[in-house]
Amino acid sequence: MSSTHLDKSSFTTWIKEEALTAGFLTVGITKVVTLDTETDRLKAWLDKGYNGEMHYMANHFDLRKDPRLLMDGAQSVICLSFNYHPEDDSLSTTAPKIARYAYGRDYHKVVKKKMINLLKGMQVHRPELGGRAFVDSAPVMEREWAKRAGLGWVGKNTLIIHPKKGSYFFLGVIIIDQELDYDTPISDHCGTCTRCIDACPTEAIAQEGYELNASQCISYATIELKAEKLPADFDEKMEGWAFGCDICQEVCPWNKFSTPHTEADFHPSDKLKAMTSESWAVMTQDDFDSIFFGTPVKRTGYEGMKRNIEAAGND
Ligand code: SF4
Ligand code: SF4
Repeated sequence: MSSTHLDKSSFTTWIKEEALTAGFLTVGITKVVTLDTETDRLKAWLDKGYNGEMHYMANHFDLRKDPRLLMDGAQSVICLSFNYHPEDDSLSTTAPKIARYAYGRDYHKVVKKKMINLLKGMQVHRPELGGRAFVDSAPVMEREWAKRAGLGWVGKNTLIIHPKKGSYFFLGVIIIDQELDYDTPISDHCGTCTRCIDACPTEAIAQEGYELNASQCISYATIELKAEKLPADFDEKMEGWAFGCDICQEVCPWNKFSTPHTEADFHPSDKLKAMTSESWAVMTQDDFDSIFFGTPVKRTGYEGMKRNIEAAGND
């Protein structure tokens, strides 16, 4: 790799091209600012108790608000999306269902590694450049930065939606201590659509959209909630989901633009693909460990997954 000095504009272009070559779906860049409105909104959301038992979401407000407290001299936020839409999504259509993002290897590791490589590449051009990469791992408001950087608008289902790519992607950010050229946000294209609100079986999305009561969301219940039994609110409403829930993405018209990912690490293992409703019902701890080793599903644990499978039913 050449280490010729690039001016700001050429360096910005180089970063974007390099990110796309590395397999990222989209890339956008925004300036570091203090996220006052966004953290006020988060505070109001927490005050309603919508975070359920995700108490960590109330931590580190100061860092969420100002990335300069996370990294000295932070100036630019490089936002990246990484496609996880599978070619074969049968694991999300046959109960017990698994959210598409969780079919393969844990995205934290896969995406973070690519981001670190991108950062190292930047440092070849500018050895003095300081930066940190984050994937769902620190108090960084990734969705808010992604919105500012033009990776999509925040839909009524509260996810970032790209007008040509849909919403089946992970988000990550690299914060660096140098100035770059910045992108502009994409306007909201939800219009009068209410499909996600209407389709959510637990009414977790506010009637007017743009706000999610996570404590009512199947995704939260099946992944985050540590309880022996799911609350009665979820009875008969699981629609077969045992780990996560993709309903509000499945119904979103913009996801007709989703294309299959090409990341080998995200393909489901043969063992997972071979599961039948009978084998799910008799899954042992050893089966669970061997099927889900290194995947996001591991997080819910064997007992948690058994609980979810029972709640999901076999419909
Ligand atoms: S993930 Fe499922 S339960 Fe949660 S808001 Fe979307 S449709 Fe509703
Ligand atoms: S389903 Fe409709 S309202 Fe919901 S996020 Fe998609 S476009 Fe917006």
